[in-house]
Amino acid sequence: MFSENYKKTGCIEVVCGSMFSGKTEELIRRLKRAQFAKQKIVIFKPTVDNRYSDVEVVSHDFHKITSTPISDPAEMLKVGPDVQVVGVDEAQFFDESLVDVCQQLANRGVRVIIAGLDTDFLGQPFGPMPRLMAVAEDVQKVHAICVRCGALANHSHRLSKSEDLVLLGEKNVYEPLCRDCYNAARAREEQEKSTPRLFEDQ
Ligand SMILES: [Zn+2]
Repeated sequence: MFSENYKKTGCIEVVCGSMFSGKTEELIRRLKRAQFAKQKIVIFKPTVDNRYSDVEVVSHDFHKITSTPISDPAEMLKVGPDVQVVGVDEAQFFDESLVDVCQQLANRGVRVIIAGLDTDFLGQPFGPMPRLMAVAEDVQKVHAICVRCGALANHSHRLSKSEDLVLLGEKNVYEPLCRDCYNAARAREEQEKSTPRLFEDQ
């Protein structure tokens, strides 16, 4: 894998996929391995993501690693010159300025590892993720398993009716679906929306 192959050269690695695809676990795995090699690591995450803890990157299976919540990606540029690896979790929630910040860090010789959702609940590229994937040296797509048919899933289907882009969730809010099951679910929802409910509220 590309991530094994670095010395002083900086780089950007992206780990992305749907909800429940294991992207945070993969980020943690890479960071822990760097930590084990006595490399100085720092992890950031957006302040919006406070599902479990304010100071730790915690994956769904409760592996955790201490992180710093920030609202502006520029904060990342303040890391000391001794930092060799910078991790970013839930990167999709940062604004586009994250791309330039990651580029600057990589140009300085830092290995930047980014984890995030590649697409939102409508199946559209999410926040800065597409540009990060474009400029990264290495991109790994990880997949969940479709809860309806067992195929590889790359869509985060929202079970709630909310239209907010940011709706932090766990198992009761999202489900991972494959392309076919996702399209079928969305088509059904659109149909429900357009069908008048004649006998409602009587
Ligand atoms: Zn499916």
